[in-house]
Amino acid sequence: MFNFDNVSIVLVNTSHPGNIGACARAMKNMGFSKLTLVQPEDFPSGVAVGRAVSAIDILENAVVVDTLQDAVADCALVIGASARSRRIPWPMLSPKQTARKITAENKQNKAALVFGREDAGLNNDELQLCHFHVQIPADPTYSSLNLAAAVMVICYELRKLALAENDGGERAEDDFWDQEKATGTQVEYFYEHLERVMIAINFHDPKNPRQLMQRMRRLFSRIRIDVMEMNILRGILSNIELNIRPKNLEAHREQELEKKQLKEQ
Ligand code: SAH
Repeated sequence: MFNFDNVSIVLVNTSHPGNIGACARAMKNMGFSKLTLVQPEDFPSGVAVGRAVSAIDILENAVVVDTLQDAVADCALVIGASARSRRIPWPMLSPKQTARKITAENKQNKAALVFGREDAGLNNDELQLCHFHVQIPADPTYSSLNLAAAVMVICYELRKLALAENDGGERAEDDFWDQEKATGTQVEYFYEHLERVMIAINFHDPKNPRQLMQRMRRLFSRIRIDVMEMNILRGILSNIELNIRPKNLEAHREQELEKKQLKEQ
């Protein structure tokens, strides 16, 4: 099971208490509860409490420390969130890779996710205390997210993976489907039927196939059709056959009659 208590959110030198409250709320929404504040400018604060709404417990249990070093002292994995790429290149992760790294080590190691100041982010010394940096791929014209929004994005990414792990893996798309997928044999019968009907209605000339059946196969493999849908299509094909047969038979009979009459003349 993913241990949410093994992940702490560290906010460095936050100036607006409202942001601290909003971060606490985002954390609680996503199941995290360990909040560490490095030299917050204004804390405790009624404004933080107001923005935390039902996450006041997280503010009450927040640990306040003097330095980032203190905040990450017991953490074996430290990942710093940064909107900008810095002069010194550092191992950079996407939010998803961050989630993977933390999840992979979650049983053994405590991890810290570090977020910077609203106006200036994390400084170089702070960034160098991190094993990895994480950048949210925001729009380059304005890539700096509000602090609590950044916390939310990373925590959400982590939660998705944590839930998947606890479920024994990502839910397959099939879990949500009400019908079985058609089997290979069923699909082959369908192709035969389709080809027969397309020939019967003069749409398809087997002497000049022009990749029609390959294209049909590709279309239906892409869809991964289910049994119900397959039965509907087979039903449509059968009805086409039923409806063209009398006319064909009539036409055939007429032709035969004409031939006979011609012979008799
Ligand atoms: N003006 C600051 C950004 C501050 S936003 C700067 O340019 O660095 C406050 C904090 O939110 C940042 O320090 C970072 O931890 C986080 N953050 C905001 N946008 C982010 C992004 N696109 N990717 C990763 N972290 C981000």
